[in-house]
Amino acid sequence: MKLAVVEGDGIGSEVISEAVKVLDALSLPIEKVPVELGYGKWERTGNAITDEDLDILKNCDCILFGAITTPPDPEYKSVLLTIRKELDMYANIRPVKPLAGITGVTGRSDFNYVIVRENTEGLYSGIEEIHEDVAYTTRVVTRKGSKRIAEYACKLAKMRHNDVTIVHKSNVMKSDKLFLDVCQQTAEPEDVDYNDTLVDAMAYYLMTYPERYDVVVTTNLFGDILSDMSAAHVGGLGLMPSANIGDKHAFFEPVHGSAPDIAGEGIANPVAAILSVKMMLQWYGYSKEAFLVEMGVNYTLNQGIKTPDLGGTATTRELGDGVIDYIKSQLELESE
Ligand code: NAD
Repeated sequence: MKLAVVEGDGIGSEVISEAVKVLDALSLPIEKVPVELGYGKWERTGNAITDEDLDILKNCDCILFGAITTPPDPEYKSVLLTIRKELDMYANIRPVKPLAGITGVTGRSDFNYVIVRENTEGLYSGIEEIHEDVAYTTRVVTRKGSKRIAEYACKLAKMRHNDVTIVHKSNVMKSDKLFLDVCQQTAEPEDVDYNDTLVDAMAYYLMTYPERYDVVVTTNLFGDILSDMSAAHVGGLGLMPSANIGDKHAFFEPVHGSAPDIAGEGIANPVAAILSVKMMLQWYGYSKEAFLVEMGVNYTLNQGIKTPDLGGTATTRELGDGVIDYIKSQLELESE
């Protein structure tokens, strides 16, 4: 098994080094292949990601990714969009689940839902024009793209509470009429409960009645916004992992960016990156190890080992070490 490790820019390297230490503590037969991508590389070489980099990524089963800085330079090619498209990772999965000892700003703990976001089209199609007084971005929704994301959502719902909410804006956009129709047609023959909600109302419902939701499926930009908004339930961007899944490849990353405001201070929260490792282990089929990582995070946070974004004083390394100590202690107990 081959894993590409991309630390990226800013806090990317700080959180990924803790995530990799957690993975190493499990002693699994996974070969790590370091790959440098991102803004730092672009500044040095004029290229944030090369064809050779893409070949290396394609030769690995999956990718563990930190974060990269995206400068507002029209010449800069988005690394993330390039990877998602080239490796056709169409499903972005963002679980929204409470963590021990953490209360988000909404004060809720009765939520456990997953946002399934279409990852390759919608408003992030990359089909754009900018002129002096007008700019266009083409919103692309295809039958194929909508069908496969709806199928993924139904499959996931069957492993959870069997409930899918389709989120759209079909009253205004024809592209979402197609998305809604295809999602409904896909869900109908499946043995799942499904319903649909307009995205503006959904933003309110997710904040007010999060306990109602199980699997939420939506288009690219809506999923991006609703999942960052959901960080308010969990307790912050530093706690939110994600997966990008395709038929051949998968890519695991914290939801947050490179956080230049705290980069280099050693205080970034590594939990999102560590929980991204948990999602990767689930994808590989290492269910027991994935559970152990999640337990380690919950145990450590419950002990009060928290970085400053959570109101604590722990460093990135101290939080990572807490998780590793827990995993090692459990593995030792097992071997006795
Ligand atoms: P950001 O997620 O980097 O930071 C937003 C805020 O959250 C900042 O105050 C930051 O300090 C805090 N934060 C984020 N992660 C944290 C963590 N692990 N621990 C503690 N605090 C954390 O978003 P931004 O500031 O809008 O973007 C910064 C750069 O990152 C931009 O160049 C943007 O394009 C890029 N970005 C990259 C990705 C990615 O690589 N997946 C995602 C989002 C943004």
